[in-house]
Amino acid sequence: MARVFLGLGSNVGDRLWYLRQAVDFIVNIPGLTFVNISPVYETEPVGYSEQADFLNVVAELNLKMAPENLLSELQEIERALGREREIRWGPRTIDIDILAIDALYYNSPRLRVPHPELANRLFVLQPFDDIAADYPVFALGKTVHRLLEMTTDRSKIKYYLSSQTLLNQPKEV
Ligand code: ATP
Ligand code: MG
Ligand code: MG
Repeated sequence: MARVFLGLGSNVGDRLWYLRQAVDFIVNIPGLTFVNISPVYETEPVGYSEQADFLNVVAELNLKMAPENLLSELQEIERALGREREIRWGPRTIDIDILAIDALYYNSPRLRVPHPELANRLFVLQPFDDIAADYPVFALGKTVHRLLEMTTDRSKIKYYLSSQTLLNQPKEV
């Protein structure tokens, strides 16, 4: 069993609804069990700025499947929620990225873990720090909290809603 952290973001339509749906799908993937989820943050777009603000969260789960299979499952959920891949870093109903899996360093054409932009994104590091400040990102040799202290990303981020708002429909386990 490994600890996996996922970063979710939405900036199209009913953003909270997309996050809730995605979390709902994710906790029902066989081979994943829910551990924790961060508060929701509202963040300004990075990379391609002519688009609406995002809502972002980070979720922690226990993983019992191969990383590439997890990626396939997550991409399936993105498709189910109507994500269209037109502009990279552009608007999307839902983006689900694998941020870190225990001490794994993984690099294949379709999957890189830890996520290569982890250290450069406040919209990931802030919610990540809320639920796992002491988590060691081995490949980077630093805890999440240290990465948050060191990041040079100064983009806007504000607390939006508590994590409870994503968990108001408890699931049978
Ligand atoms: P970014 O990865 O910079 O956040 P993005 O999330 O907008 O950009 P996507 O369009 O969601 O990019 O994904 C592009 C490709 O990234 C996917 O097809 C996937 O194969 C690949 N990828 C590599 N590493 C990861 C990872 N850790 N999590 C999710 N996708 C990844
Ligand atoms: Mg992404
Ligand atoms: Mg992605």
